[in-house]
Amino acid sequence: MFLACPNRCSTNRFELWNASVFVDTLGRYLEYRPAESPLYRCTQCGSPAVDLGEVPNAMQAEHERELERVSDYACPACETLFTAPLGQSPVVCPACGQTFPVSQQTG
Ligand SMILES: [Zn+2]
Ligand SMILES: [Zn+2]
Repeated sequence: MFLACPNRCSTNRFELWNASVFVDTLGRYLEYRPAESPLYRCTQCGSPAVDLGEVPNAMQAEHERELERVSDYACPACETLFTAPLGQSPVVCPACGQTFPVSQQTG
């Protein structure tokens, strides 16, 4: 996690916004229960903080999902069945080396 204020406040102090902290009758800390997606806000301007630490991970996960998306093709020359990354056109038949354009499928 790397919290940052969208307004670039220099205080770098953030307040937990929607999580619950439980205390006993003397106010002693008992339990901390974060919400499903904890929110923090900048103590200076009150803007919701953005978690810059999550961005590279999210982009990496998205990238990996992209790589996993493949489509099945049949070579028009030798009829070999093979898979190629979705969105790639033309595709190359791994058996005979024939390249041919493919129409992009949606869904
Ligand atoms: Zn701020
Ligand atoms: Zn082929």
